[in-house]
Amino acid sequence: MYNAKSLKAEEFIDHDEVMATLDYAWKNRHNEQLIDTILEKAKLRKGLSHTEAAVLLDCDIPEKNEEIYALAKQIKEDFYGNRIVMFAPLYLSNYCVNGCVYCPYHMKNKHIARKKLTQEEIVKEVTALQDMGHKRLAIEAGEDPVNNPIEYILDCIKTIYSVKHKNGSIRRVNVNIAATTVENYHKLKEAGIGTYILFQETYHKESYEKLHPTGPKHNYAYHTEAMDRAMDGGIDDVGLGVLFGLELYRYEFTALLMHAEHLEAVHGVGPHTISVPRIKKADDIDPSAFDNGIDDDTFAKIIACIRISVPYTGMIISTRESQACREKVIGLGISQISGGSKTSVGGYAEPELPEECSEQFDVSDTRTLDQVVSWLIDGGYIPSFCTACYREGRTGDRFMSLCKSGQISNCCLPNALMTLQEYLIDYASPETREKGEKLIREQLANIPREKVREIVEKNLVNIENGQRDFRF
Ligand code: SAM
Repeated sequence: MYNAKSLKAEEFIDHDEVMATLDYAWKNRHNEQLIDTILEKAKLRKGLSHTEAAVLLDCDIPEKNEEIYALAKQIKEDFYGNRIVMFAPLYLSNYCVNGCVYCPYHMKNKHIARKKLTQEEIVKEVTALQDMGHKRLAIEAGEDPVNNPIEYILDCIKTIYSVKHKNGSIRRVNVNIAATTVENYHKLKEAGIGTYILFQETYHKESYEKLHPTGPKHNYAYHTEAMDRAMDGGIDDVGLGVLFGLELYRYEFTALLMHAEHLEAVHGVGPHTISVPRIKKADDIDPSAFDNGIDDDTFAKIIACIRISVPYTGMIISTRESQACREKVIGLGISQISGGSKTSVGGYAEPELPEECSEQFDVSDTRTLDQVVSWLIDGGYIPSFCTACYREGRTGDRFMSLCKSGQISNCCLPNALMTLQEYLIDYASPETREKGEKLIREQLANIPREKVREIVEKNLVNIENGQRDFRF
């Protein structure tokens, strides 16, 4: 039944194939010879199959696990350097007709405050986000064809891109809305979105149906095949993810990689990003009610194994995770993080009163964006506000080939430094600005091509003099 090229969810995420893979991985978890062979293949940086990756995930030989972590770090450095791209979620509406049992936006929740931003309120939210320094947003909404139809989402995107406050602008809008039709994906593409993100929640069909008992999201095949429709609609940057805690992590990990293989096999390009959310406490949601929660060590192992299995895929971690957890995993392969996030509708412009709770989940990392930027710099990372790739048409396989050719260092590092410079001048605290400018001076030497370095040096001065939005 298993067929990576099939367009049917139950064939490209074939349950028997997942189970056979898990069985094989478990039986080989101390097979040193096999693990060495897989690690050798991983060192070629061309990725691993879901079967090979599952063996590494189960591997319980401590020295081999150390090798896995070291390789994940190395691959992250080779492909993404020490850059971390910043973004923030923007919640548009929490009206929802689904019954997802882990999400407080579920339809039966009668006491959560339901809110939907008007276009005027979006201007206020975006202004507040720009005042923090954000350039890249992920818009989020519940599924509700009456309250949040595609026309509403499109209007919101238009409004977001139109707000120009002081030196601010939102240059990339990623979209995390429910699975929809090819026609609607096409409209999102036309609206100029960056990545279309849709979390699978769980790949386990039986559990999926129980966890989504009512509403359109109940349809496993429609949800699981959404990325194919998105790609048919012309969106070639798609973001996968599972909500860890709902099902056995080994199952999710294997199926997630099968999904990536499927996209590569059918569309010639794998996922642009993979997100790794874990269930959090929320209004009427208690994470301990879910049996499959994972500890921080398992979480780190998953991230390292994803990194070496799909080296060209960005990996995202949100403020669901605490500072300590982010510190533990960021070097293992994360390329994007959110900062200063609010998960309530309208939460940036006006912090809400406790009795008006509209949050989707509790944020663990509650630091401001400036604090997160400062912390990244202290940790040896370059916070980047770059949005250049999709604006320069480097999406889908064009982005992947840039990544594979290693040319990314002549492009991404300069863009990171120039956008960081904009941030430091326009929004940073004096302390963050000082350490950031020092970092930029040091990092200039790491731009491989001299000609590019000269242009960057010139542009840094231009930014100092008030010009904005330079990019390669
Ligand atoms: N409603 C859309 C959908 O169904 O895909 C949009 C996404 S929703 C606003 C964003 C994501 O938040 C969900 O896909 C889910 O994985 C995650 N989420 C929901 N409840 C959560 C919770 N209690 N803790 C952590 N993440 C949660």
